[in-house]
Amino acid sequence: MKKYIYTFNEGHKDMKHLLGGKGANLSEMLRIGLPVPPGFTLTTEACLDYYKNYENVPKSLIEEIQEAVKDLEEKTGKGLGDPENPLLVSVRSGALVSMPGMMDTVLNLGLNDETVEGLGKKCGYEFALDAYRRFIQMFSDVVLGIEKYKFDHIYDRYSLYDEKELREIITKYKSMILKEHKQAFPQNVLDQLHMTIEAVFKSWNNHRAKIYRKIHAIPDDLGTAVNVQAMVFGNFSDRSGTGVAFTRNPSTGQKKLYGEYLLNAQGEDVVAGISTPKDIETLKDTMPQAYDEFVKISNILENHYKDMQDIEFTIEDENLYILQTRNGKRTAHASVKIAVDLVEEGVLSIEEALMSIEPECIHQLLHPTFSKKQLQDVRILAKGLPASPGAACGKIYLTAEKVKEAAQRGESAILVRTETSPEDIEGMLHAKGILTSRGGMTSHAAVVARGMGKCCIAGCSDVEIHEADKKIYIGELVLSEGDLIALDGSTGIAYQGLIEAKEVVFSDAFQQIMTWSDQIKSLDIRANADQALDAKLAIDHGACGIGLCRTEHMFFNLNRIEHVRSLILSESESERKTALEKLKPHQKEDFYNLFKTMDGLPVNIRLLDPPLHEFLPKEAEDIMNLAKEMGMSVSSLEYKIKQIDEVNPMLGHRGCRLGITYPEIYRMQVESIFEGIVALTKEGIVCKPEIMIPLVGFEKELSLLKEEVKSVADKILEEAGVKCEYKIGTMIEVPRAALTADEIGKTAEFFSFGTNDLTQMTLGFSRDDSAKFIHKYQEKSIFKEDPFSSIDIEGVGKLMEMAKNLGQSTNPSLKTGICGEHGGEPKSIEFCHKIGLNYVSCSPFRVPVARLAAAQAKIKNR
Ligand code: PEP
Ligand code: MG
Repeated sequence: MKKYIYTFNEGHKDMKHLLGGKGANLSEMLRIGLPVPPGFTLTTEACLDYYKNYENVPKSLIEEIQEAVKDLEEKTGKGLGDPENPLLVSVRSGALVSMPGMMDTVLNLGLNDETVEGLGKKCGYEFALDAYRRFIQMFSDVVLGIEKYKFDHIYDRYSLYDEKELREIITKYKSMILKEHKQAFPQNVLDQLHMTIEAVFKSWNNHRAKIYRKIHAIPDDLGTAVNVQAMVFGNFSDRSGTGVAFTRNPSTGQKKLYGEYLLNAQGEDVVAGISTPKDIETLKDTMPQAYDEFVKISNILENHYKDMQDIEFTIEDENLYILQTRNGKRTAHASVKIAVDLVEEGVLSIEEALMSIEPECIHQLLHPTFSKKQLQDVRILAKGLPASPGAACGKIYLTAEKVKEAAQRGESAILVRTETSPEDIEGMLHAKGILTSRGGMTSHAAVVARGMGKCCIAGCSDVEIHEADKKIYIGELVLSEGDLIALDGSTGIAYQGLIEAKEVVFSDAFQQIMTWSDQIKSLDIRANADQALDAKLAIDHGACGIGLCRTEHMFFNLNRIEHVRSLILSESESERKTALEKLKPHQKEDFYNLFKTMDGLPVNIRLLDPPLHEFLPKEAEDIMNLAKEMGMSVSSLEYKIKQIDEVNPMLGHRGCRLGITYPEIYRMQVESIFEGIVALTKEGIVCKPEIMIPLVGFEKELSLLKEEVKSVADKILEEAGVKCEYKIGTMIEVPRAALTADEIGKTAEFFSFGTNDLTQMTLGFSRDDSAKFIHKYQEKSIFKEDPFSSIDIEGVGKLMEMAKNLGQSTNPSLKTGICGEHGGEPKSIEFCHKIGLNYVSCSPFRVPVARLAAAQAKIKNR
């Protein structure tokens, strides 16, 4: 028979799959002798079997719960439901991956009309009744689905909260439950426990948890564990409290205890941001002994887990208990600093440090900031806590729905809330930044924003939010929805009006991580760049070459498009030649600048790829203007446009097919490239060109075009007396090219996998239209990841591996790389490493991500 329950004495930290993160770490802490209240964990398997069993708790689990409760009663010396000496427990969710605030928790379970009296006799009636009231409210919210605010309405009508008032409040709570739920609040404590466990199982599939999993790519089939633990009370007395602390600063990475606590408070009060908590440092003065013990424990935990820890604790009458530890969520900036510091402190090896950083978070380091100069003349609106760094500017909206709508209209939106709750998750996702008027550095808004890499100011108490009239008041100033504000999440200051953010400067720790990554990785990281400016950015971000220059992007420039249009509309070869002559100086200048910027690094230039009609005007007004310019009637221009228009341009007259049918276009491009190279070589600059032919499906296409390119290039170089080594190769983006790669490999000097088109043509999914249905495919688990973002390893990946091997079977010196969007995505990078490509090429902004991902791929696959 399956074992569904483990007591905390039975588990350890490597049992996260079964016990969830929280359960495994509670067991581990007990194992290493830390003060953890006793309890037990229902496994994730119990949750999964609950779902398999059509949402019925497995029978044997009910028996196991009884035994586990008995064991807990023995350990605590109390009884669940014992009126004289009641045991109270917390029931908390805890999945394999932490999903803060997304699932449910119930505290003080075990209280009923009898046990509350027993607890009152022992600990004071006000304390016991307050615990009972909290329990009724939480239980009703989580288990019975009665909204919290209905209880708050009752509670807020009182002011003294003495024994008499609390008794009245409880009576009113209970009648409200009877009215709303049509059944009385359950007095049987075992019923309370079973009902709560089931509700926590169910919370795995609530709306916000599902959205959170989608955002963070957490699989839906993991299930949650449930932890049942003896309660300790942070609201027991003034010598009690509860808090959350990080062993290092999660924003900056600084090595200093960082956290907050509330005196005389319970459970989620700190995280929920209900009141603004105190800095952990001040605990040194209020309860020095508990503080010293906490410092000692936080050091033990950091060394034990070899990572920065996020620790939840409760002090009951000066006795410290640890309720949770986990690797702390941190900003990208803190992530690299902590990794580098832990290597310097001898805790981690370089490899371990690199593996501790999420490659995607490196992307956040490229986040914008405001410069000092920009902030000189703008009005400061308010100052709050610098909860998550970065800079954002946009229109304010007071609800998550409004933010979502605004973002869908293409606006930059800032979510302004008193405090956020898990229901706001979608709005937070769509917002450029978040501002809350309440809550601390560990409030929901702060934690979630940091996880999303989104700028956030929390606890901005000068901002008064009036949801009813959709306005915010800051002193005399009144702002309405739609007004512009700018947030600096690194200083916590909000400004009025429009401020455009500036790019970041890389820290020493970031540079160190990049240096270590470069020392370890085997893959080269190149960038997709079409202009000198992008190329400069690529070099600054550490690219060692250009893997794709899409030359058509050079055609779109305003002062060239007219020449491109006359080229396309030319009737004869001679007309076409004249148009090409006009385009050539521009192309030559572009290539000259590109090679100059890359200064000796390889530059892969792809000859013209898209269908020609993409360059023609589409709007009536533009067509009219062009007709006027070309001295032809609108109708004859429209006729010409129609003639070259295609039903399915993605599979049409594009790529090397243009080179085959209009050889003069490619000829002009090659002349521009090599004339630019001649000029640069004479200036002493080394050029390493790679000429790439797109959309090849037949070896003959490549060999014809290779001949053409070679004859033009050699003639120019020869006439100028200049030596330049160049390569001619092809993209592999048509399945036929992959299937016949041995043939194509005989002619090509390199293959570059164009996985955008290769995915489109292998799956038969249009890369422009499939977004409409891909999410449904993901929902139904036909595939997990969007195949246009992460390589479809079983399909497209198989073709890639086969093509690489076939190509190298006939041409052992064939170089291989990837230049589709996948080249900047960590999982795809790992795949490229595994099949032995030479390089990946991605957008300049993703180059640092790719450098780290390539190092991780090497470490993982040693
Ligand atoms: C590709 O198809 O992967 C590619 C890089 O080319 P493009 O996106 O320009 O079609
Ligand atoms: Mg392509």
